[in-house]
Amino acid sequence: MKNEDLVEELIRQKYITSERVKQAFLSVDRKFFVPKDVKSRAYYDDPLPIGYNQTISSPSIVATMLELLDVNEGDKVLEVGTGSGYNACLLAAMGRVVYTVERVPQLRDFARKNMENCRFHDKIMLILGDGSVGYGVEAPFDKIMVTCGAPEIPKPLVEQLSPGGRMVIPVGSTFFQELYIVEKRDDGIYRKIWGDVAFVPMIGKHGHRWA
Ligand code: SAH
Repeated sequence: MKNEDLVEELIRQKYITSERVKQAFLSVDRKFFVPKDVKSRAYYDDPLPIGYNQTISSPSIVATMLELLDVNEGDKVLEVGTGSGYNACLLAAMGRVVYTVERVPQLRDFARKNMENCRFHDKIMLILGDGSVGYGVEAPFDKIMVTCGAPEIPKPLVEQLSPGGRMVIPVGSTFFQELYIVEKRDDGIYRKIWGDVAFVPMIGKHGHRWA
């Protein structure tokens, strides 16, 4: 199997519906972002363990979230939960610049190493810290993608959205959440629920207190 086979399957199952997301998935090979012991499963539509009780999400949910987020060429993007760095590279393939925040130092290092294989790594700023407070020094962001489950929508993330900006974020318990699409418009903040998802918990000031 190769990365193209994964992309073809995601298109066939209608997780990938836009040319933009398709091109991003074709240009970022998932095998560079999974640990050695699970490389043989890189092109299956499954989440995989990356250590420290964390996972790289299944490609279908990544594709779904990227379609919902609708990242454009000029976008300044914030990701909360770098993990393997896979999603950050996909975002960098579509946007102008990506700030991605990870709280586990070893995963930050894992992501940095994986990203060497990504031709968009110059557009990615890797930050170690608590992403539940966003990344104020670089705000506002046109798009925010949260890849860990928050107990509620963190206020700082809403504040750090540009006018007209959009955020996708799993909100709920430590294991099951609903995926929210949050939009900041002239007349207020709008929220839509996409459906049920299962992410690892967001741990931090505006996240869960316990893993
Ligand atoms: N997007 C990743 C998968 C995310 S797994 C990928 O493409 O591989 C979720 C990640 O969120 C984990 O690495 C976890 O350590 C991180 N995380 C949890 N709470 C966080 C917080 N408050 N700030 C930053 N990262 C956090």
